Amino acid sequence: MRWSNFFAYTLKEAPKDAVVASHKYLIRGGYIKQVAAGIYNFLPLGKIVLDNIKKIIKEEMDKAGAQEVMLSFVTPYELWEETGRAKKYGDELLRIEDRKGQKFVLSPTNEESVVDLVRGTIKSYKQLPVNLYQINLKFRDEARPRFGLLRGREFIMKDAYSFHATREDLDREFNLMQETYENIFKKMGLDFRVVEADSGAIGGSGSREFMVLADTGEDDIVVCTECNYAANIEVATRKHEQRENPVKTEVIEEVYTPNKKSIEEVCEFLGVDPYFSIKAVAKKAVFDDKEEVVVFFIRGTDTLEETKAKNAVGALELVDVSEEELEKVGLVPGFIGPFGLPSNVKYVIDDDLRMATELVCGANKKDYHIKGAGLLDANLLGNLTLYRDIAAVKEGDKCPKCGKPLKITKGIEVGHIFKLGTAYSEPMNATFLDENGKAKPFIMGCYGIGVSRLIAAAIEQNHDEKGIIWPKEIAPFVVDIIVGDVKKEEQLNFATKLYEKLKKAGVRVILDDRKERFGPKIADFELVGFPIGVIVGKKLKDGKVEIRDRKSGEKFEVGGDEVFEKVMEMVRK
Ligand code: ATP
Ligand code: MG
Repeated sequence: MRWSNFFAYTLKEAPKDAVVASHKYLIRGGYIKQVAAGIYNFLPLGKIVLDNIKKIIKEEMDKAGAQEVMLSFVTPYELWEETGRAKKYGDELLRIEDRKGQKFVLSPTNEESVVDLVRGTIKSYKQLPVNLYQINLKFRDEARPRFGLLRGREFIMKDAYSFHATREDLDREFNLMQETYENIFKKMGLDFRVVEADSGAIGGSGSREFMVLADTGEDDIVVCTECNYAANIEVATRKHEQRENPVKTEVIEEVYTPNKKSIEEVCEFLGVDPYFSIKAVAKKAVFDDKEEVVVFFIRGTDTLEETKAKNAVGALELVDVSEEELEKVGLVPGFIGPFGLPSNVKYVIDDDLRMATELVCGANKKDYHIKGAGLLDANLLGNLTLYRDIAAVKEGDKCPKCGKPLKITKGIEVGHIFKLGTAYSEPMNATFLDENGKAKPFIMGCYGIGVSRLIAAAIEQNHDEKGIIWPKEIAPFVVDIIVGDVKKEEQLNFATKLYEKLKKAGVRVILDDRKERFGPKIADFELVGFPIGVIVGKKLKDGKVEIRDRKSGEKFEVGGDEVFEKVMEMVRK
């Protein structure tokens, strides 16, 4: 590509709402342009990167035996009613109506579409297994689209759906897809982790996420400092560690704690280690058909993990609850404890508190707490008692696998694979005949990759204060030949010859032959983020050109006749 007639421009300023590096550099580098909140046009540079990523994904998916399809972007709302997701999916689902009043949705994911595609088409176990994938547009009316391509409303996903006759065969495909994803992200030159994950709104049993490690990631991932344990904080567990309270209380007693509401205040007032206290976190749980107050009890030193808590009560979401709402159901804000709760209030106790003794907790009475409480006998608390793992794992907690300390890092979710089982085939009545001629629902898996999000994730992991530092595999161009002064025929001729030769050798190369000054050209090389720069400038008179390695920042001169070989060597590395 010759930059002089390439539709690529760079900007000095990033838009005000751009706070993360990828958003800033994608806009400033002329990769994308915003159309509306969370919706972007891809310019030629962005489209090339997108295609490079798609190509890697396609190669690996095809190698694994998956078959590419393209499902319609607009899908009938009826299909979403069949699975009950029309309601469950909430406001992220954009509903539209045609001129005849028929309802449709813009696909946020395609489980329903693909089940509808195979039902009636695949009739026998002999036609199984099959894995169908597409790389296609998605639309989710995200509440807060942000960070450019990281969380858009319109975005590109690779989604795959597999159909099996047995659970064992699903397990085999699930493992194959994990391997395939690992190959894809490795090929893209990314540093990533595979983590245990929550199955979210898609449903099913068992799922893993692929996280690109980056400080700006929205996900907290828990990794072991010793073994290979890694999990999203939403499902991470820890080794149970029961510490004995060194301070013994003679009797269980109510103590007067005037105006001491927070755990810190109460524990300080009573001189108790907060580890031996029970913190109450009240939330409003939103269900399909109702909303109710739920109290979650955790150790004073822990925090509530909302996804775990939500799953523990089977709610669609948890929202904050006001003091008035708490009082309405008979709770005393600031003094809530597990003993003597109003009988209509549902509550969950963290697993880590099971059998714990010598605890301080609220007395369900204004200005009073209880000292010396124990959770020895669950039955004492009534039949609503539910012990579940609802606390967030924190730095320093012990690994559930090996007992060594856990650490928390940030990640960007770029892929997610699920074992769906029959969660979709059953409600949609999609069956096949098994070996005995019996109709059975398909056993399914589904496998997503955030294709456009990957562009941003790669940048979050690979940039500096000047711009992007692309991994070679996905860079729009691997080599940028910068002509110092295009009016100097000697420079332009030399650069053009090198450009042609590299192109012939199959290298993605751009020739910066714009009538620009040298300074801005170098700045663009750094901002747009090409891995290798070749500067054909003043020194050509002495037979020398300069080569720059964007990643290491290294610069060195080579003789004009060695430059091709030297560049090829760097490209191959
Ligand atoms: P998140 O928790 O980030 O919202 P998700 O769990 O809703 O993601 P999936 O339904 O598993 O995502 O979708 C598959 C992949 O699509 C994700 O792993 C992610 O990489 C990508 N993705 C999801 N939502 C968006 C979005 N709003 N913008 C860009 N990519 C997205
Ligand atoms: Mg989401």
